[in-house]
Amino acid sequence: MGEGGSQGRLTALAAALRAHVEYQAELGELGVPRPPAAAAPPPAVRAASTPRDLFAEPAVARATTLAALREAIGDCRRCKLAPHRTHLVFGVGNPQARLVFVGEGPGEEEDRQGEPFVGRAGQLLTEIITRGMRLRREDVYICNVVKCRPPNNRNPEPDEVAACEPFLRRQLELIGPEVIVALGKFAAQTLLRTKTPITKLRGVWADYHGIRLMPTFHPAYLLRNPGDKRLVWEDIQQVMRVLGIAPGRR
Ligand code: URA
Repeated sequence: MGEGGSQGRLTALAAALRAHVEYQAELGELGVPRPPAAAAPPPAVRAASTPRDLFAEPAVARATTLAALREAIGDCRRCKLAPHRTHLVFGVGNPQARLVFVGEGPGEEEDRQGEPFVGRAGQLLTEIITRGMRLRREDVYICNVVKCRPPNNRNPEPDEVAACEPFLRRQLELIGPEVIVALGKFAAQTLLRTKTPITKLRGVWADYHGIRLMPTFHPAYLLRNPGDKRLVWEDIQQVMRVLGIAPGRR
């Protein structure tokens, strides 16, 4: 058989394979249950390990519930964000959530209401959770790296992050989720203690003290760059596979 013939067979084989893969993907999209993936691929990035409560105040380290942790934080004056805030935005959701979303810090609306992700970016996050993942906001837990709003929504500064980090660390320990989604460059780089750009981190499993962490773009970025929603959806689908959540019709 001439080269043209074997080339033709290869092309036909490739087309059949592609059709099969697309059919399988479609089954998934249509909500045919698929078993959860046995394991996520090994993490590419691991958060530098520090002894568990090294920087935590005794009351924070001793807190055994989220309510006790919130109480230990009190009317916080530990960093220079305190005088600017209306509310300290601790976090919201299921204290035993399998999935935690971590953002950067409260914005204006969050500061006003005392709840994370309730502004425009928050509405988009809520859509990802409810329409994309078919979960309720109450099923997951949502919090931020810093609990008080940085003035004019500037990035939190290193001393502010350092003051707040033991609270986030304890919060995540107490919840003990199976997966953390780090929303945006700031959350991903802070949690993983890396300077790697979010464009490189996103979509790749990392490890936060034994918890699988998926970095993805921040919903506020998606409001400015809606074309990248497709990439976030890919990342969220990876999370859904690990949690065994069947994709529904969107
Ligand atoms: N952006 C964040 O990172 N967190 C919020 O709570 C709201 C907007």
